[in-house]
Amino acid sequence: MNITRRQFIGMTGACVLSMRPGSLRAQSAKRHIITLSFDDGFKKSSLLTARIFEKYKLSACINVVATGHLPDFKSPDEYQVTEKGDFALWNELKSSGHEIMPHGYKHARKTTMPLRDAQNLIVACLEYFSKNLKGFRSAEAIFNMPYNSSTPELESWLATQVLAFRTGGPAINAMPYKGQKKLTCGAFGPGNCEEHLDNQIKTLLESPSGWLIYNLHGLDDEGYGPVRADYLDRLLARLIAIESVSVLPAGKALMAIQ
Ligand SMILES: [Zn+2]
Repeated sequence: MNITRRQFIGMTGACVLSMRPGSLRAQSAKRHIITLSFDDGFKKSSLLTARIFEKYKLSACINVVATGHLPDFKSPDEYQVTEKGDFALWNELKSSGHEIMPHGYKHARKTTMPLRDAQNLIVACLEYFSKNLKGFRSAEAIFNMPYNSSTPELESWLATQVLAFRTGGPAINAMPYKGQKKLTCGAFGPGNCEEHLDNQIKTLLESPSGWLIYNLHGLDDEGYGPVRADYLDRLLARLIAIESVSVLPAGKALMAIQ
């Protein structure tokens, strides 16, 4: 089989299920899925994150704000003041096999506004992605709530708009299953979150099985709760060497069982 680099990254992980019968056994040994879910779409950090994941033939999971690159974008908090990537960059990274998913139209906290306003912002976000990100489909999207903050009413509605959504809650989820709509994640900040993440991974690996979704942002000194670039590099090297572990973006982990 002639496999391009992009296809190779795309098939890494759960997608190998469909490749050939012999790979089924190898994949079934994966009892622990780890999703490192990078938010906010910083240009510098996203490029570096993608490069580090590529080193290990893995797809990065990058969640971006639809209007974050526009000149009139106003940082919603003190942690998003550095340059964001634009959709030229997101298309380039997506075509290299990385996952680019929505993280709001303007990164609003949706629990402090009327339900209708929150819905309108999410619809605008998904429309922007459909127009500007090649191959984007809401039915295959994970919507990553800004501030991991949502309401039961918004969650019920959102479940009808996208494949699944990510919000706050326990860091360890059930293994992916068909119809899984609500994904919850761990996060730590505003300082360096490496120790917290290491502890979450330890807890996962001590469990019989599970899907750890951990919300990260930038690398080194960029964004809320960062990790060092060399830590991420060493972490991925450690994780891919563990037989029970699969490192996957959230959408890819879920799409593999649809
Ligand atoms: Zn964010």
